[in-house]
Amino acid sequence: MSEAQSIQWFPGHMTRTKRQIEKYLKQVDAVAEIVDARIPVSSRNPDLDRLIQNKPRVILLNKSDMADAAATKDWVVSYQQQQISAIPVDCKSGRGLRAFQPAVKAALAPRIEAWKQKGMVGRTIRVMIVGVPNVGKSSLINRLSNGSHAAVEDRPGVTRANQWFPIGKGFDLLDTPGVLWPKFEDKVVGEHLAFTGAVKDDVVDTEGLAARLLELLCRLYPDALRARYKLEQADFSQLEGWQVLELIGQKRGMLIAGGEIDTERASMMLLDEFRGGKIGRITLERAGKVR
Ligand code: GDP
Repeated sequence: MSEAQSIQWFPGHMTRTKRQIEKYLKQVDAVAEIVDARIPVSSRNPDLDRLIQNKPRVILLNKSDMADAAATKDWVVSYQQQQISAIPVDCKSGRGLRAFQPAVKAALAPRIEAWKQKGMVGRTIRVMIVGVPNVGKSSLINRLSNGSHAAVEDRPGVTRANQWFPIGKGFDLLDTPGVLWPKFEDKVVGEHLAFTGAVKDDVVDTEGLAARLLELLCRLYPDALRARYKLEQADFSQLEGWQVLELIGQKRGMLIAGGEIDTERASMMLLDEFRGGKIGRITLERAGKVR
């Protein structure tokens, strides 16, 4: 579990975080917002738009290695239609990150032009990374710095020497990512975050969660589900999530005393395999259709 994941959000903490982000925003030219490409809606903070106002922004659709490539393309187009530049990336391998600086520069083009007019040619561009816990902020900072600069968690009272570090000529990154909270109060958001493992399992009902995930997968990715668990004969339109879970447990020989299916074990296995990308490249939230 990453450190960010263990953050407990409470009103005082949220206010402090917001204030810190507002403070940093004054020092940066652009914001790179990182979201999970599998759940681009649920992995966002709903207050961010208001917080960053008209600051130029680039969206990084991270974990694109685990997301459905066609769905990710649709997201890129959908953001483009809103005049927001978005790039698919994989911060684990670094794939897609070459497009990062050009995308930020494109988002800043009018400002760069204005700086030029004022004689500020080659002015350093400063960027801040923001995102909800577990979305890949530290991985991104690590990648952009080639591992030489691990993300620093913001700790009150600790003076930090190297707040900015260069990731290219005339291009600096803030080493502290802005950690924002997701829209917890929304049940679907909470569930989608739990599917991806962004919310700890011990706070959720694993079997209920697995059954809900299966309902979604039956609707969105029936073929991948069939192939993974050898469910060729199953008619998903007639089955509820928990029934599919039982079928999977049966196929995998997960039985407890008395021949009953160990749905608890099947649930953990299913969630593990989903999070590990073993069922396939899956996007649970599509552009255009919010859910
Ligand atoms: P943070 O909490 O936002 O700083 O997120 P981390 O950088 O700690 O990443 C959370 C988890 O997601 C870690 O286990 C990373 O290895 C993993 N991760 C981050 N980016 C990617 C990615 O693009 N692809 C995959 N498959 N895993 C990723």
